[in-house]
Amino acid sequence: MNIDAYRWRPPKPNYLPHNVDLDPFVENYDDIQLGRPEAYENAQFFSKIKRAAQEYNITRPKGYNVSFHANPEMEKHHFGKTHPMKPWRLTLTKSLVMSYGMSFAMDNYIARAATYEELNNYHASEYLDHLALTPADDVPRLEDDNEKAQTKFNIGLSDCPLFQGLYDYCSMSAGGSIDAARKICSGQSDIAISWGGGLHHAKRSEASGFCYINDIVLAVLQLLRCYPRVLYIDIDVHHGDGVEEAFLSTDRVMTVSFHKYDPREFFPGTGALTDNGPKSEHNPGAHHALNIPLNDGITDQQYEQLFQTVITQVVERFRPSAIALQCGADSLAGDRLGRFNLQVQGHSSCVAFVKKLGIPMILFGGGGYTPRNVARAWAVETSIAIDARDKLDPVIPMHAPWRDHFKYDAELFPSLQKILGEPRANKNTAKKLQDIVQHVGEQLKFVSIAPSVQYQVIPPDLQGIRDDVEDRLKEETEERDDQLRRTREEGVGVAGERGQQKNLAYCKKLTVSQLKADLKRRGLSVSGKKADLVERLRMYEETGRESGGGSGGGTDSESHIGSTYNDNDMDWEQ
Ligand SMILES: [Zn+2]
Repeated sequence: MNIDAYRWRPPKPNYLPHNVDLDPFVENYDDIQLGRPEAYENAQFFSKIKRAAQEYNITRPKGYNVSFHANPEMEKHHFGKTHPMKPWRLTLTKSLVMSYGMSFAMDNYIARAATYEELNNYHASEYLDHLALTPADDVPRLEDDNEKAQTKFNIGLSDCPLFQGLYDYCSMSAGGSIDAARKICSGQSDIAISWGGGLHHAKRSEASGFCYINDIVLAVLQLLRCYPRVLYIDIDVHHGDGVEEAFLSTDRVMTVSFHKYDPREFFPGTGALTDNGPKSEHNPGAHHALNIPLNDGITDQQYEQLFQTVITQVVERFRPSAIALQCGADSLAGDRLGRFNLQVQGHSSCVAFVKKLGIPMILFGGGGYTPRNVARAWAVETSIAIDARDKLDPVIPMHAPWRDHFKYDAELFPSLQKILGEPRANKNTAKKLQDIVQHVGEQLKFVSIAPSVQYQVIPPDLQGIRDDVEDRLKEETEERDDQLRRTREEGVGVAGERGQQKNLAYCKKLTVSQLKADLKRRGLSVSGKKADLVERLRMYEETGRESGGGSGGGTDSESHIGSTYNDNDMDWEQ
């Protein structure tokens, strides 16, 4: 693999999207005209963000490494004009992150698309086939059409429309999160950021709540290969039902979801305080799902305090070795779908708190339906990851793309009054929050401290498996070649002119690695050029001994150990 091609260095031409004429499924976002920037504009922007990094003194964090995983191609996709999910929010986020010069403090990667096999690691084949093969709807369905619609797997209704490029969009989102997990596992990153992931509602065979592929589940499965216990925390305004369901029966993952809960009126209607995983005490997953149901209007102060109290208890008891934090930004005040009074300060304080634990962590995106607020929150949370929160100018830099779109005088932390006018009525009483903390404490008593890990259920690592399979296939091919050769020899007789010629021709046809494998199997040296290897193999096949006379050490297998496979290996030429 060409590592350089994989590594992302700003600027990339796609940080400002796209030519509407060239990308037919990209439409205008409200009155924002999207266009592909010229190389000149790119260069100009690059020099500005470089200056910004110097001016704000944005440097790589000391003693640890942060990676940023994104794919500009993903941001082009469009759920339909009236749909609340705007992948363009990822572009706006990235632009803001870059405008402050934060890209210079991280390893930046263009996320690849996850393979079918990787998605299949959690999702059912028939579901993936449907996702990949069903043609897009010309016009997305509206809510009124849902009742008469015939759909499979909940795909194609107004929430989860069949839009152009859907499968690519899903695989890129998942690819970013899987890459993030792999960087954590390999120790190359201590914090990995995948704002394009966090799609927590998707089920094994069902799309749900704008989510089709559960990238978080796929990433956590990767983490479980190297970490005994993974803590999943979800601060989206909606219940993290898909992730909870996926890990319901294991004690190696604990899920903690903070969300608005109203079983009748608010999606998805699950996640009551007393829903704590399987009811049977024999199921290892019992008590490993914690739900923190909240009401409209919760404030920064209440949320922060509740979050810190709950997470402190959970970490003390469960002792996670890695953390997956879903930072859905629909819990912010002013969100198109959310109902809370949270500001970026309160939302991001959760990230700061978890970061202080010093445990390897992935930050996922998630919900968030007012793009300017999403971008603010995730940019600030990126700055927390790289220890630069205090270095950010509270006024968004002049060179930030779509600066006008941020409104509120381009402040990074606009007041609640500016965002909402009148804050929502707060329906969370102190008593209710106390009850939550008490209930969580009771559940945690059932969780054994640092539960034992039963490694018989290690999720497969497909890349690893693929390597194994390739090795096995290679061996089988070699075996077959060997067999073929023997059959041929038997056909022509053992000795004699013809046999010798055929044998020589056969040996010449082998590749160097096949020759070496054959020689190695016979306990012969693999040193020398191809012609030497051919001659050695031919000679052996004919006479049953090593060529060149030698001193008789030809079959001493010890002399091959450490053989370096290069022309300077002279141990047979004495
Ligand atoms: Zn949400």
